[in-house]
Amino acid sequence: MWHKSPHPAFHPLPHGPDTFSALFVAALLATLFIKVGLMLRQRHHVRARRDQVPAPFADSISVESHRKAADYTCARMALGVVDATVGAAFVLALTLGGGLQAMHRALAGWFDPVGLAHGIALLAALGVLGWLIEVPFALYRTFVIEKRFGFNRMTPALYAADVAREALLAALIGLPVLAAVLWLMGAMGEQWWLWVWLFWFAFNLLGLFVWPTFIAPLFNKFTPLADEALRKRVENLLARCGFRSRELFVMDGSRRSAHGNAYFTGFGAAKRIVFFDTLLDKLSPAEVEAVLAHELGHFHHRHIWKRLAVIAATSLALLWLLAWLMEQSWFFAGLGVDDGAGSTAAALALFALVLPVFAFPLGPLMSHWSRVHEFQADAYAARQASAADLAAALVKLYRDNASTLTPDPLYSRFFDSHPPASLRVSRLRAGT
Ligand SMILES: [Zn+2]
Repeated sequence: MWHKSPHPAFHPLPHGPDTFSALFVAALLATLFIKVGLMLRQRHHVRARRDQVPAPFADSISVESHRKAADYTCARMALGVVDATVGAAFVLALTLGGGLQAMHRALAGWFDPVGLAHGIALLAALGVLGWLIEVPFALYRTFVIEKRFGFNRMTPALYAADVAREALLAALIGLPVLAAVLWLMGAMGEQWWLWVWLFWFAFNLLGLFVWPTFIAPLFNKFTPLADEALRKRVENLLARCGFRSRELFVMDGSRRSAHGNAYFTGFGAAKRIVFFDTLLDKLSPAEVEAVLAHELGHFHHRHIWKRLAVIAATSLALLWLLAWLMEQSWFFAGLGVDDGAGSTAAALALFALVLPVFAFPLGPLMSHWSRVHEFQADAYAARQASAADLAAALVKLYRDNASTLTPDPLYSRFFDSHPPASLRVSRLRAGT
């Protein structure tokens, strides 16, 4: 049973701060080595198969497209290796390197170190710092890699406008949410984790309503689907699948990227189906119908609700864990924070920094679960629309998105939320 002592009294545990530091560094390095190792494997595997289109795709994908996909994958893996390494160094610098401690101390010059303003400033500063570290990678990805392979449609001006809008949203929405969470952590006594969880979950549900109608239109233009023949087709499909007719929109995805997509968002009255204009340009109406049937499959199997339930349970467990860790002096000292020991903001910051390190082994489990869902959605699409059309659509999307047809199986098991193309297409062609 978890019990909170009346004062933030810190008692050393059998495993002291040094043991925890060592464990943390070991986990950080292990995670980095596995990540980098898998990315290098993927690079090697894809490069070795660069000149040979796999047999099932031989008549639908040219050698040039296949080579382009291989080069695109290799370029992204190379950037991924640098990104992962810099990310690990960043986490190390903030924790054992004393970065967070120094920020905590510096901000204490402006704000009362036990006050709400200090906590908000600390977490906001951390957010800005993390964003700054990622900026060069994001720029390189968009203006070098995506541009080289002909995917980027973004001008530097649009990019800057996006950044400004995102920063404004982060400040307008993120800062009040942060303030509310820190306030609940301080004011709700030993059950604060339950209150924060309720608040966080309600906020996320609200987001599902607000995002499609209010936030997404800030970044893209949504116009009602004008193509009458396609609209009829989609409405027939919805009726056949037992879905109420929805608003159908086309999004100007081509403003930013040549990658195509379709999605289904929102709940209740905010529910809508969105097609990227790039998708409609590439696929025939029958193929668009099959892709949408796949999306409806996710709804039919309640994948969204299952995912939400898992997220809710996980976040409750994590908040409970954080509440327990905040009571442990070794958690702060072991991660290089003495000044802010016991501070809710410092605990939250440390938790956010080190959680991905310790949660890394869960990645393959989540990916596996997601791939099971993809197969279910494909099977649903094959029943409600046409398996052949979905297979044809997937081949086109793989080709036009330069997604590799020859992923390294181990890399794929770790990171891919979607099953390899060859598996999906062969299952669809086999009619399962
Ligand atoms: Zn899917």
